[in-house]
Amino acid sequence: TTREWQAADSAHFLHPFTDYQSLARKGSRVITRADNIYLWDSEGHKILDAMSGLWCVNVGYGQRALIDAATQQLAELPFYNSFFQTTTPPAVALAELLAEVTPPQFSHVFFAGSGSEGNDTVVRMVRRYWQVLGQPERQVIISRHNAYHGSTMAGASLGGMAAMHEQGGLPIPNITHIDQPYWVQHGQGMSRDDFGRLAASWLERKILEVGPEKVAAFIGEPVQGAGGVIIPPETYWPEIQKICDRYGILLVSDEVICGFGRTGHWFGCERFGFRPDLMTFAKGVTSGYIPLGGVMVGDRVARVLIEQGGEFEHGYTYSGHPVACAVALANIRLIQQLKLVEHVHDDVGPYLAQAFAQLAEHPLVGTAETCGLMGALLLVKDQAKLTPFDPAVGIGMVCRGHCFANGLIMRAVGDRMIIAPPLVITRAQVDEMVALIRRCLDLTLADAQR
Ligand code: PLP
Repeated sequence: TTREWQAADSAHFLHPFTDYQSLARKGSRVITRADNIYLWDSEGHKILDAMSGLWCVNVGYGQRALIDAATQQLAELPFYNSFFQTTTPPAVALAELLAEVTPPQFSHVFFAGSGSEGNDTVVRMVRRYWQVLGQPERQVIISRHNAYHGSTMAGASLGGMAAMHEQGGLPIPNITHIDQPYWVQHGQGMSRDDFGRLAASWLERKILEVGPEKVAAFIGEPVQGAGGVIIPPETYWPEIQKICDRYGILLVSDEVICGFGRTGHWFGCERFGFRPDLMTFAKGVTSGYIPLGGVMVGDRVARVLIEQGGEFEHGYTYSGHPVACAVALANIRLIQQLKLVEHVHDDVGPYLAQAFAQLAEHPLVGTAETCGLMGALLLVKDQAKLTPFDPAVGIGMVCRGHCFANGLIMRAVGDRMIIAPPLVITRAQVDEMVALIRRCLDLTLADAQR
C-alpha cells in the first residue's frame, strides 16, 4: 500500500535534493507507472508530466522500440567494457550515429554514465588538451552563477548553485563564475539585445582578470535549465563565441537538457548559433530509459588528444555500456522516425509559445517565455513593475502544491514555474496542460490575495 511504501522509503532511502524532515512528515508520492506524457501514482491518480521526468523522457513513456532494444541487448551481451582496446557493436554504432546527428565539428565521443560524469570528463579533458599543447598553466574554467552542471565535485563546482557550494567546500580550485544572462535580474531598463552583449562582456572581463594565458575553457548551458529556464537574449551566444575565439579559449556547451530536440533543434548550440569545441549530453540521449551520458569532442580537441596525447588516463566502468548504447540508438532513430525535432520546431513549439503569450496576461505572471518545449512563467506581485513576492510567501512552492494536487507536474525554481514536457506532446495535450496551468495560477492567486 502507499503507506507501506512511504514508511519504508523514509526509513531507508536518502533521496537526492530532498528535505528529509519534510519527507518524513509528509511521505513521498509513489509513482508506479507511465504512458506517453502521463504518470500514475500508487493511489491511481493520473498526472500530466510537464517535466519529462527530470527533463529527459523526450520520446515519452512506454516506447516499445526502446524496451525491445534493451531486452535484446541484455540477452545478447549485457556488459562489456571499452577499456584497453576493446569495444562492442552498440557502442560503435552509437558513436557513429552521434557523429552524424551532432554539428559537423564533432567526429568523436567519450562515453560516461551521466551528465555529471560528462562534465567531470570535460574538466579533465580540457586541462589535458592544454597540457599536451605545452600550456599546462591553462587550468581555469569559467562558468556561470546559477548554472547546473551536476552533483559530482567537479560538476557541482562548474555549477553556480550557492547552496551546493556551501555544503561541499566548493568550488574546487581553478573554477570561477560570471553572472548569468538573466534580463529580469540584471537587465531591466535595457533592450534584451543590448543586455545580451553586456552579459557576454562579463566573460571578457573575467578572462582579463584571471589572465588569458591561464584560462582553459568557458562552459554554459544554451538555456539554463535547473536555474529556472533562463533563455538568453539572441545576441548573447554569438558574442560569447567571439570572445572565446579572441582568446583561443575552448567553448563547451552543456547540452544535457537542451540536446536531442528540446529547443526545436537537435542541439541548443544550433538554436543559438554558436560552435562549441566540446558538448556534454545525457538525459535525452536515451530519453532517460537507462543512464548514459558523455562528451562530444570536436576536431580541434580530438586531433590533439589522438595525434599527440597518448593515453588519456580517464574512464568509467560504464563508458559505452552496451545496453545503454543500444537504447540510445533506438531512441535517436525514433526521434528521427517520428520527426520530433521538426514537430517541436514547426508545430508544438510555436503552439506552446502562443499559449504562453496568453498566459502572460494572467495577473500573477510577470514574464512568460518559451524556447522550443521549455517554458518559464515568472510569478510576480505587480505585473507592470515585475515586483517580486516576499520570499517568505514562497509563491513558487504554493503554485507547485496546486499543480501536485491537480494532476500536473510543474517545477518551481524560486518564483519561476517551469516546464519541459515530452517532445511527443500533441497540440490537444498542450491545450490540456495549459488549462491545468491556468487553473493552478488562479488557485495560487486566490491564496496570494487571502
Ligand atoms: N548538466 C545539466 C545542464 C543538467 O541539467 C544536469 C542534470 O539535471 C546535469 C548536467 C547533470 O546530469 P546528471 O544528473 O545525469 O548527472
